[in-house]
Formats: sequence, structure tokens, C-alpha cells
Amino acid sequence: MLKRYLLTPGPTEVPPEVLLRMSQPLIHHRTPQFEDLFAQVQEGLQWLFQTTQEVLILAASGTGGMEAAVANTCSAGDTVIVVNGGKFGERWVKISQAFGLKVVELKVEWGHAVAVETVAQALANNPGTRAVLIQASETSTTALHPVEQIAALTRGTDTLLIVDGITAVGATDTPMDRWGIDVLVTGSQKALMLPPGLAFIALNDKAWKQVERTTQPRYYFDLRRERKEQLKHTTAYTPAISLINGLHEVLRMLREEGLEHLFARHARLARAARAAAQALGLTLLAPASPSPAATGVWLPQGVDGSKLLKYMRDRMGVDIAGGQDHLKGKIVRISHIGYAGPFDIITAISTLEMALRRFGQDILLGRGVQHAEEILLEGWPTVG
Ligand SMILES: *Cc1c(COP(=O)(O)O)cnc(C)c1O
Repeated sequence: MLKRYLLTPGPTEVPPEVLLRMSQPLIHHRTPQFEDLFAQVQEGLQWLFQTTQEVLILAASGTGGMEAAVANTCSAGDTVIVVNGGKFGERWVKISQAFGLKVVELKVEWGHAVAVETVAQALANNPGTRAVLIQASETSTTALHPVEQIAALTRGTDTLLIVDGITAVGATDTPMDRWGIDVLVTGSQKALMLPPGLAFIALNDKAWKQVERTTQPRYYFDLRRERKEQLKHTTAYTPAISLINGLHEVLRMLREEGLEHLFARHARLARAARAAAQALGLTLLAPASPSPAATGVWLPQGVDGSKLLKYMRDRMGVDIAGGQDHLKGKIVRISHIGYAGPFDIITAISTLEMALRRFGQDILLGRGVQHAEEILLEGWPTVG
């Protein structure tokens, strides 16, 4: 028998309470019972997004939410500024191109955050820009972009700020209304501790005005239709009923924890992961602006990361994420998003230590774990 652990930054582990909720018999979605359930999760999502706006629920993976954001706010020929600092920034570029937008691409070295000044300069050079598209947390490189400061540039202008918050909302403070984010998107399988299949999108009044004006063709992702129905606590098409049932339980758990503790937990786990990696002599991929979702770590020269990950998954039972594109085989990403606690960090670090030893590295077993424990211990109360 091999006991398995899913320690990737999406999909993340689903708590047993949530699995149980999702196994309840289906109720029909055109009923008062469903509308009552839906109204409760809508309210919970507003709390999570820190917004008074409607948070629309779509049956799609996170990318569906990203596509809906572009299709509903930008017309063909519009200019958009896209921060591309990894795989998901690249996805904004591709979606924008698919919808005929003129893309001003701000390429950021992987592992780095965009400089606010670069965005300010691009806005100055491109008057009439329809939107700035960015990730809050670029999961592929484990870097966090300065969304609050960028929102200060677009707030009060005609340019929208469209934020992919897929590994930020529910992991780090991303207050939509307070910061002035115009469109905020997230998905179900990261901080929200659910299986993949739901996307969430909220727009403020400035963005909704643009939804009415844009000439882009839309059907399934027509947010005008969706908002009309969701204001009545139902959806335009058949919702993912079981996932919404699970979401109800997730939101109950998150509210019980509270936003402050939720963010503090993610920050502490992230700090422990970074301390452990550095104690092992490994270099962080995003040291200056690290994400609370996952910690990217360079592997020592000569270690084949693809083989290492395969060994950890197939032999040790621990699924840890690697890198994509030019980082494939060169990094690992230690996840600490969603249903994650101290012992997930211990498991991941311990696995990495033992696997690196098996791959011929001079690793002092327990050294990373020790440094992680020093930080994780802060999360428990003193005795007495
Ligand atoms: C996971 C992720 C996505 C993609 O979501 P899918 O559910 O795979 O479509 C987009 N952006 C970020 C930042 C992500 O972490």
C-alpha cells in the first residue's frame, strides 16, 4: 500500500466534510431549496471577495472565468496591457488575442513581480487602454504582483483592472472594493478547497458599464444574462449543483476561521516552506515577492526534476508540482494553499529531503524540517 498525498497548488485536497456534502443526493436547481442554498453561497462569496457586488458563479474551470472577463469587457480592436510573468500571464495574452484585442505585453522575468513603474509607463504610452490584465499570484512562478499599487493607477480612470485572483482570493488579502479592482476572478480548486469545475467572477459598476457597451460576441459566458438570473438566486444554465453544495460547506469553514486567520495561516505556511528550503541550501524562485499559495524552489544542478517528481509521486506517494516550459525539470513548487496545515509543509519538506538524498545530494536529513518547525510552532498557543 502507498498512502498518497496531493500537495499541488491546484487541484488541492478537498476536506472530508466537503466530500461528504458533495455526495448528498441532487436537488433540482429550479426549486426554492436550491435558490435558498444559492443565496447563502452568494452572500459567502461577497464576504470572501470583500465586495458588495454580485459574485457570479459559472460552471467552468478558472480559465472560463478569465475568458468571461475579457469577452464581456473588451471589444475587438481595443488595446489592453497584459502583465506576462508566467504561464497564466501568457494565458491572458492568448485569450486577448483570440478576442481580437491589441495586446501591449509587459514581459516579466519568471519569478519576479512586475514593477509598478512599468505599468504606469505603459499606461502613459497607451492612452485609451481598455484594461490592464494581471495575475495577483502567478502560480507558475510563485510570485505575487503588486495589485494594490496597480489598482491605484487605474482607479478613477476609464481603464479597467482585471485581476486573475485564482491563487490569491482566499489565500491573501485581495479586497476588491477597497483596492478598486474592477474585475476579479477565481476558481474552485485552489484556495476554495473544492474539485475543479467552478469559476467565480465579480465586476464593479465601472466594469458593468463596459459590459453593456462591448461588441464582443458571447453566449454561454454572457454575463448580462447570468447576472439577471443570479440576482434571482438561480443560474442561466444548469449549475454544478454538487459543487455548489460543497461550496456551501467550504464557505462555512472559511467564515469560521475568519479572513484574518485564513491569510495568516497561508502566510505562516509559506514562511515555513521558504525557511526550510533555504536551510537545505536551495534557492527560492521568487525571493523578493513570494506568493502565499506556493513556494518555488530551484533544484540543485544535476538533479533531473522530472525524475525527482516522478520518484516522489510513484515511490513515496507525495504529489508535488514541478515547473512549466523553461522551468520544467528545474524547480519544484511546494504548495500551501487551500486545505493546508503545518503537517503538509512537514510532509512536503521531508519528502524533498529524502528524495534529494536518493538522487545523490548531500542533504542533512531533518534540517529543512527543523527550520520549518521553528516557524510552524508560532501557530500554536503557548501552554498554560
Ligand atoms: C490554476 C490557475 C489558472 C487556471 O485555472 P484552470 O482552472 O486550470 O482553468 C489560472 N490562473 C491562475 C493564477 C491559476 O493558478
